[in-house]
Amino acid sequence: METKTFIDLSSDTQTKPSQAMRAFMAQAPVGDEQKQEDPTVNALQERVAALLGKEAALYLPSATMANEIAIKVHTQPGDEVIADRTAHIINAEAGGPAVLSGVMIRALDGTRGLFTAEQVESAVRREGPHYPRARLVSAEQTANLGGGTVWPLEQLRAVAEAARRHGLHTHMDGARLMNAVVASGIPAHEHTRGYESVTFCLTKGLGCPVGALVAGDRAFIKAALVLKHRFGGAMRQAGIIAAAGLYALDHNVDRLAHDHTNAQILARGLAEIHGIKIDVAHVETNLVFVDVAGTGLTAQEVASRLLARGVRVGATSRTLIRAVTHLDVSQADVQRAVAIAQEVLSKTRAGAPGE
Ligand SMILES: *Cc1c(COP(=O)(O)O)cnc(C)c1O
Repeated sequence: METKTFIDLSSDTQTKPSQAMRAFMAQAPVGDEQKQEDPTVNALQERVAALLGKEAALYLPSATMANEIAIKVHTQPGDEVIADRTAHIINAEAGGPAVLSGVMIRALDGTRGLFTAEQVESAVRREGPHYPRARLVSAEQTANLGGGTVWPLEQLRAVAEAARRHGLHTHMDGARLMNAVVASGIPAHEHTRGYESVTFCLTKGLGCPVGALVAGDRAFIKAALVLKHRFGGAMRQAGIIAAAGLYALDHNVDRLAHDHTNAQILARGLAEIHGIKIDVAHVETNLVFVDVAGTGLTAQEVASRLLARGVRVGATSRTLIRAVTHLDVSQADVQRAVAIAQEVLSKTRAGAPGE
């Protein structure tokens, strides 16, 4: 069996398009996407709209653009967007909501990336000349920095209902929605019900090299299309890349279950190592957050030592490492990564405080 010299657990964005995906892309029929004449883009948009239970979907270069467009469609400058403090729109979109939409974000102190309807209710301010107007609630499924957490359906719906009661719009950042679908066994359109717009990313676990979509009703998509042009996201013969999305929906969804199993193996294996803490029970999908405080090293130091041995992970804070399973990481790779972590970290044991 082939042994890889480099195991990249830094993100599920690190997948490379397979030979079969590339072959499918190479033969895709194409046209001018901006004139709605690209049959492959059109097919992908229809397919994702149906998958998400929405009237229409728009193909975009990235999920970041999808979120930023959705925020802009739903808000006016000075409005407030309610989201969990771990949200991608707060932590990883370069201040986009502030710059592109002029909105404030009300960061809720949720649990593992999830918040409750009650938290939304109490975040909505009274009307009055002093207060920013709450306008949009955004929920991330799965919650990335929350730990790859899957929102329970009732909680997701209660949040959407609370939003509606207060006249707020609703957006779902479903960058890893299909991980939630596979983990919960609940179809995508059930997760998205009650959410007016949905971001859907193709370059995470689905393994595409480029692309994302935003879905919603026809009026939302009409407004989103203008912003797609304005933000410079309108492309031409984009079917060549959109084809990867069609391929991924046929071949790379059910297999996400393997990534979830591998994340369990990784979490259990790493949890055995002295000085490491993992909330194994809360590893629900493909993201594993590892607290390395007990090793006496910073997360960055642990990441560097692992990298020197051919295992790449990400340091997300001074004490936390994120390791992500995906379609280019096998069960054997995960087992080898655990063994390497064991070796690397056993050398630090003398310096580590006892637990
Ligand atoms: C990765 C990610 C995005 C952005 O995706 P890109 O396609 O890389 O722009 C948005 N939201 C969440 C939760 C993500 O994990």
